[in-house]
Amino acid sequence: MKYCNNCGKEIPDDQKLCEECKKAKNEKINNEINKNINLLAILAYLGLLFIVPLVVCDKNNKFVRFHVNQGIVLFIFSLVFNLLSVVVFFILPIIGYIIGAVESIFTLAFVIVGVVNVCKEETKPLPIIGKINIIK
Ligand SMILES: [Zn+2]
Repeated sequence: MKYCNNCGKEIPDDQKLCEECKKAKNEKINNEINKNINLLAILAYLGLLFIVPLVVCDKNNKFVRFHVNQGIVLFIFSLVFNLLSVVVFFILPIIGYIIGAVESIFTLAFVIVGVVNVCKEETKPLPIIGKINIIK
């Protein structure tokens, strides 16, 4: 008879850990994987870093794909409004400045909402821009 490496309980000869310790170990591994997946989903909202989960993550991972899509939409939103603010700035500096400031506030708010959704492990669309689908 062999004993569990972890808790010392008796186990069948062909195993190293008892069923309970194995289960606990698998749970721990799953938690680690989930943490990494959440981290990747958060990267989706940080500007161009959406490329990392887009490349690294399994296309079948709906959770990450959802957040990568939102990150891309947000990136385009912020890019378009930044360009707009620069163009307008040359014509009407004050208006251009206001557009830029509004864009910064909205982008920051969207990033916060997105990251909070990831942490809550939710796939909730962002307000206003979240319904746009770029990737599947
Ligand atoms: Zn054990």
